[in-house]
Parts: sequence; structure tokens; C-alpha cells
Amino acid sequence: MIQRTATLVEVRSAEPQPERWQALLANAINTPEALLQEVGLNPTEWLEGAERGHRLFPVLVPKPYLQRIGYGDPQDPLLRQVLPLLEEGVTLPGYSPDPLEERSASPVRGLIRKYRSRALLMVTGQCAINCRYCFRRSFPYGDHSLSPQARQQVIDTLAADPALNEVILSGGDPLAVNDRLISQWLDAIAGVSHIRRLRIHSRLPVVIPQRVTPALLAALSGSRLKVVLVVHVNHPQEIDADFAAAMGQLKEAGVTLLNQSVILRGVNDHADTLEALSERLFEVGILPYYLHAFDPVQGAAHFDVADAKATTLMTELRTRLPGFLVPRLVRELPGRPSKTPLD
Ligand SMILES: *Cc1c(COP(=O)(O)O)cnc(C)c1O
Ligand code: SF4
Repeated sequence: MIQRTATLVEVRSAEPQPERWQALLANAINTPEALLQEVGLNPTEWLEGAERGHRLFPVLVPKPYLQRIGYGDPQDPLLRQVLPLLEEGVTLPGYSPDPLEERSASPVRGLIRKYRSRALLMVTGQCAINCRYCFRRSFPYGDHSLSPQARQQVIDTLAADPALNEVILSGGDPLAVNDRLISQWLDAIAGVSHIRRLRIHSRLPVVIPQRVTPALLAALSGSRLKVVLVVHVNHPQEIDADFAAAMGQLKEAGVTLLNQSVILRGVNDHADTLEALSERLFEVGILPYYLHAFDPVQGAAHFDVADAKATTLMTELRTRLPGFLVPRLVRELPGRPSKTPLD
């Protein structure tokens, strides 16, 4: 009898368990009440606005990100990125649900092709965090991933165009899918001989550093493709020891690490903050790549930083930082063959 029980336990533990990062994602804070309680803000003052914003785009904040938010500080630059405010319900002229006109550049489901040498592949619509300033707030695409047939269509489309040499996994957040699916995409893309680079645009390693699993590292380091990971950090306070350790592991696996940020009022619209961000990124092995000018996303007008202010900040940054730590201030404009530099 005792032996049988032992066997049963073994069989059960051999079933696929959710990974730690998946459990952290499943247990993310997803109500305004819980968020206010966790960060020590008074519901009498903040709940009405938070609930209004939440109805437009739900609250989603995993614990590892929450831990980096200061307690009882409504101006905390990380909290500002995730706490819905009353202002989100305001509709202003010039603020669009689809400022990038992404829906018109898709040759086959999942693929967005705007630039000659690189194609963007939407692996999933899901994210690990809901950032209040994101254009995704207007279409929470859900987690539908592509069927095997749709995936084959994507690969066939890539294979038919030798001008392409880079595939960018994007979303949503491409690392929201499991390692098995990431590996399948990697293998399928590596099978297209003219593709040399794989780029991953993801905020997940920032939000949940535990996402950098041994299986992910093995998949990235084992590929024929050169792998570039572009993370999304907006403020130096987002860089903690766990994130730094995860970046160290990726670097060891041979991954090139870059960062993109969005300039956001009340988060990083100061030269001191942007300078500290670049310095911290470099300390953990990441080079700044893009600083995105604000896109006029409906419901996010309270984050808007005027282009004139952004370019002034860049001029100041260039006096404080070596050239390789100055991100490029860009905007994506519909119909252009590349991102457009602002300065
Ligand atoms: C931003 C973007 C890229 C990548 O542009 P890079 O300048 O190479 O970083 C590719 N495709 C689309 C649709 C994009 O929006
Ligand atoms: S992680 Fe990126 S895509 Fe997802 S909500 Fe935040 S900014 Fe948008």
C-alpha cells in the first residue's frame, strides 16, 4: 500500500506544473480595490476614478512589479503606469483608438509588414501587465494565438520574400506564451534561410523576471538565429536585483539586450530620470535603443509630453551621457518606410 501511494505521488508530480512565472501571472492584481490596498492609497479618494478606467481597460499588475512601487505615494512613477485614473474617460479630439493604423499593414494574419527588411509577428495579444498609456487599451486583443495552419501561412509568407532578414516577435507580449510555443516559432523561423535575426519585443522580463526560465535560455542560445531582446523599461526604479539577474543570464546565453521606453508625463519626463535610466540600464547590460514620442492614444492624454519638450530633454541628455547611452527619440508615422527621428 505504501509503495502504491508513493508511485501515485510521483506520477502526479510528473504532470506539467505551471511554471513560477505563470503562477505569478495568474495571481496578478486585477481589481482596483486590490491595487489601492496593496499600494496604500485611500479608496475614498482614488476608487471612483480607478473603477472608471478599469471598465475601459482592466487593471493587471503582477506581484513582482507591484513590489517595486513605493507605498502610499500616488505620484510613484511605476504606479502611474498601472493605476487607472478618472481622466481616462475623457475623449479629446486628436486622440485616436488606433494612432498607428496597424490594422491596414497585415498581409497575412499575425504578420505586420511595414519595413523592407523586417516583419513584425504578433504571437499573442496577451500581456502580463496593462499599461495605461498603451494603444492596446483600445483593443484588448485577448490571448488568441495562431493555429498551426495560420502559423504555416506566416512561415510561407516569410519564405517567399528574400528581402526580409529579421523577424520581430511582438504582441501583446510574445513572452506571454509558453516556452514550447516560443521554441516552435524559433525553429520554424530558423528554417527560413534568409532570416538572420530574431528580435523579441517584450516587457515580461521586466514585469516578472522569473519569466527568464532555463527552457527559454536554452531555446534562445540554441538557435541558428542571432537573438536580440528589446525590453521595455520606462523608469530606473523598474530595475531591481531580480531583473538584473535575469538580464545577466540572457547575456550569458548570447542575447543582445536593448531597451525601448515611451516618454510619459509624470513618469520619465525629466532629464535626471532619463539620465538615471540609461545609467541603470547599462549597469545591467542593456543599451538604450528607442525613446518613443508619445502617441495620441485615446484615454491617455494625461501622459502626453509635447514634442518640443521631448527634443529639449534629448539635447540636455546628450550633454550628460555618452552617445551610446542616448536613446533615439522616434515616432512611428503611418505610411513611412522606417521610424521617424524627432531630433
Ligand atoms: C517598430 C517596428 C519595426 C521595427 O523597427 P526598427 O526601427 O527596426 O526597430 C518593425 N515593424 C513594425 C511594424 C514596427 O512598428
Ligand atoms: S506590456 Fe507593452 S503592449 Fe502590453 S500593455 Fe504594456 S506597453 Fe502595451
